[in-house]
Amino acid sequence: MRIVARMLETMRVKTVGWVRANVFLWGALCAVAVVVAAQTQSSEVTITPAIVVAGSPELIRVSVPASKVEGEWMGHKIEFFRTKDGSAWLALAGVDVEGAVGAFTLRIHLKTAGGETRDLSETVEIHAAHYRTETLNVEPKFVEPGPEELKQIEAEVALKEKVFGASAAEPEWSGDFIAPVRAQPTDSFGVRRTFNGKLASVHKGMDFRAASGTPVHAANSGVVVLARPLYYEGNCVVIDHGLGLFTISMHLSRIDVHEGERVVKGQRLGLSGATGRVTGPHLHWAVRWQGAYLDPAKLLKMKLTTVH
Ligand SMILES: [Zn+2]
Repeated sequence: MRIVARMLETMRVKTVGWVRANVFLWGALCAVAVVVAAQTQSSEVTITPAIVVAGSPELIRVSVPASKVEGEWMGHKIEFFRTKDGSAWLALAGVDVEGAVGAFTLRIHLKTAGGETRDLSETVEIHAAHYRTETLNVEPKFVEPGPEELKQIEAEVALKEKVFGASAAEPEWSGDFIAPVRAQPTDSFGVRRTFNGKLASVHKGMDFRAASGTPVHAANSGVVVLARPLYYEGNCVVIDHGLGLFTISMHLSRIDVHEGERVVKGQRLGLSGATGRVTGPHLHWAVRWQGAYLDPAKLLKMKLTTVH
């Protein structure tokens, strides 16, 4: 749509002073824009946000009375659940911040109440997101860990694989996700970072400027599946919100929940701090869906109160 808008802008400039032609062109191009939009989104399947970029969470809605809906997206199985009023099926999915761009098939198959099967698959264009780059300096042990530290890091990689490998079979969340901390968020998701001039990595979460000791809350309901200190993450709390969706709070100075504990939206998880690989106190907050890291700011903007 942005391209169409740019086209419109160009056409408009070229037809300045020629009002009738201008009006005609606007009308014609708007009609083209409507057709383009209709082609990318059928009324039976909607994807929000409609412009899909690397790193964005997506709410997929299938508005067809069905007894079962199955989906697949970029190698991920999509788990659908019914809306509150039972009129549609929904799934929260997304595209990893480092995911590929281009045209991909969103496969959706459903079974109607009458037992008939339907294929609602469609092509979705994933656009490149333009994230910033920055350089940071941290303690050398976080860029070139020693043999003992490497052992610890390896063990934690295995632990995290296990933790993220399982998720509740139903959505544990309800309504909108809320910001985990009362502090200023930064535009830090997706930033390409170089640590100490050597290590390059992508920032897969959102940093909040929280002073040490600021209460950190559960952004939505779920189950605490990890609550312990880790090498890079520092004191870390992971909440499973079901169907492969997790939120992760890092660098805490204190943890107030335990693994296996069920938490409700707004419940205190601990206090923010500066543990692990940091340049100073802040809350690093990440959103993960089936291994893909998604933009937390976009999840917080999603209107979910009426859907589940
Ligand atoms: Zn961070």
